[in-house]
Amino acid sequence: MTTSTDTLPAAQRKTTDWRLQGACSTHPDPDIWHATGATTQSRSDLDEAKALCNSCPVRQICQDWALTNREAYGLWGGLTEGERRRILRIRIADGLAEPRKGSRPRAACGTPSAYDRHIKLREPVDDACRAAHARASAEQRARASQQKPASLEALFKAHTKRLYGGHLAWTGPVKPSFKGRSYNPKQVAFIIDRGREPVGRVLNDCGNSECVLPGHVADDSERTPCGTRYGYQRHRKNGEDACDACRKANSDADNRLRRTGTTKQLAA
Ligand code: SF4
Ligand SMILES: [Zn+2]
Ligand SMILES: [Zn+2]
Ligand SMILES: [Zn+2]
Repeated sequence: MTTSTDTLPAAQRKTTDWRLQGACSTHPDPDIWHATGATTQSRSDLDEAKALCNSCPVRQICQDWALTNREAYGLWGGLTEGERRRILRIRIADGLAEPRKGSRPRAACGTPSAYDRHIKLREPVDDACRAAHARASAEQRARASQQKPASLEALFKAHTKRLYGGHLAWTGPVKPSFKGRSYNPKQVAFIIDRGREPVGRVLNDCGNSECVLPGHVADDSERTPCGTRYGYQRHRKNGEDACDACRKANSDADNRLRRTGTTKQLAA
C-alpha cells in the first residue's frame, strides 16, 4: 500500500521510490488495500488487493518494508496485518527480529509461557518446558479441585454436560462429595430437583444409563408410589412398616385376588 510521496521530505523520497512502481499506486480505489471486516464486499476487496500484490513488481521490497517498520495496518506485499504479526512473532522467537520496545521479554525455557510459545509457533518442545507445563497443569487441577462449590446445585451445574437426545451427562468425579457427604451423581440430580432426599435408589428411566437429567431420574418412592401394592412391597423390602395407604392398597389387592383371580382392578 503506498502513501503519496509528495507529502514526504525529500530525503525520504528516494527510499520510497519503489512505492511509485507498486500496483496500488495507480489503482482507482486504494482503499481496497485497507479493507477490513467480514462482509462479502470487504472480503472481495481484499482478495482483489491480494491478487494485485501477488503480481506487483515491488512485492518483496514492500513486504520487507512493512515487516521492518512494523506497519500495523493494511495489506502490504500481499500480507495482511495478522499474517505480518505471525511472521514477526516467529522472527522474534528465532532471534531474527527485536521484540517491540516495551513488549514483554521472551519467557525463558523451563516456564509455562515458553511452553505455550513453542506450541503456538509449532516449535519442538524441550524437556524443561514440557516439565514446567506438566507442573503448572497439575497445580491448576489441584486448585480447581479445592474450589468448593457453594451449593449442590453449583456442583451439579459445574459437572454436567448436555447430550444429544435431551439427556445430561455427568462429567465430574464418580462419587462427588459436598459438605463432607458423598453422593452418586443421580442422587445429586434428584435432590436438587425435588428438594428432598431420595427414598431408596435413584435410577433413570430414559434408556441412557449414564443420564443424570433430573426429569429422567426417579427414586423408589416415585417408581413405586405409596398407595399402591408396589409401594407396600417397597416398604417391606426396606424393612419398614408400610404406611396406611400402602397397607390398604395391598389388602384391597389381596381381596381382589381372592375374588377375581387377579390383583388388577377390573375396568368399571
Ligand atoms: S505489493 Fe501490494 S501493497 Fe505493496 S506496492 Fe505492490 S500492490 Fe502495493
Ligand atoms: Zn523451551
Ligand atoms: Zn436421559
Ligand atoms: Zn407407603
